Amino acid sequence: MRKATVFTKKAGGAPANVACAIARLGGNSGFIGCIGEDPFGEFLQNVLLENEVDTSHIQRSDTFTTLAFVSIAEDGERDFVFSRGADQELKYLPKIKSDFKGNMIHLGAATALLGGPLESAYAHYFFDGLTERAFISFDPNFRQDLWKKREKDFVRKCLPFIEKAQLCKFSLEEARLLSGEEDLLKACEKLHDIGTEAIVITLGKEGTLLSTGSGHGVIPSIPVSAVDTTGAGDAFIGCLLFLLSRLEDPSKVADNYEVLAGMVRTANAAGALTTTQFGAIPSLPTQEQLKAALQ
Ligand code: ADP
Repeated sequence: MRKATVFTKKAGGAPANVACAIARLGGNSGFIGCIGEDPFGEFLQNVLLENEVDTSHIQRSDTFTTLAFVSIAEDGERDFVFSRGADQELKYLPKIKSDFKGNMIHLGAATALLGGPLESAYAHYFFDGLTERAFISFDPNFRQDLWKKREKDFVRKCLPFIEKAQLCKFSLEEARLLSGEEDLLKACEKLHDIGTEAIVITLGKEGTLLSTGSGHGVIPSIPVSAVDTTGAGDAFIGCLLFLLSRLEDPSKVADNYEVLAGMVRTANAAGALTTTQFGAIPSLPTQEQLKAALQ
């Protein structure tokens, strides 16, 4: 990060990426978040609109739009530094609750558990999702820069979401941190014990470890020339949620390992394709691109 001299403007943030990933595949998605009354906020809103994401629940604030600076080291590893602003001012609006009925909610804000109005709004929306019996998906999106020396707080705050979510997506680092186990199968066991029925642990080019009550295994990805892995996990979970949304009852998915494994195989390809260009949203695949990559 210290050596970087130029940054390119890209729309993003995990929840926005996931919303775009779903819409790009032809699904319906909406984004709940708070942006500033400034050109960066407008830019994000416009990118969401261009991708046909429902932006009607976006809130605006006088505070500047939250920015994330992402640097990519020669080995492809990413480094995040956040300049936080409007995202932390998201308010709870009770009228959104009725939209959750029969829908899927993906909770994936890296900053949502850091306190202030956002954390309480996030908890309310989570609660509304549960009372409306929405399908809940959770991605803790752990960022070292945001939780320095407070990792234990992070783990504690994630527990209710892991307990109640039907589907949890973790990175290798998150699975180990949240379970306290190095071994991934032991980690899955602990995380299932907390409550979640389906676990996906994304492993970069190695693919994804899938674990449900009915089986576990590593589902391979497709080979690509990766230049930037930013957003691969969001493309992956967006695609998986899109595929799950087409089932009659997504909440039963953990009962059928083979069906879920087939979906993870497709979602892996969505993640892989997203690494082939810089930035997350521009490289999110369409259905046609995904089909071609899987042939
Ligand atoms: P995260 O952004 O959560 O760290 P990953 O970088 O592990 O997620 O990527 C998500 C998924 O995208 C992986 O599980 C894998 O299927 C696919 N993927 C990511 N990087 C590559 C790569 N270099 N080659 C092939 N597939 C990849």
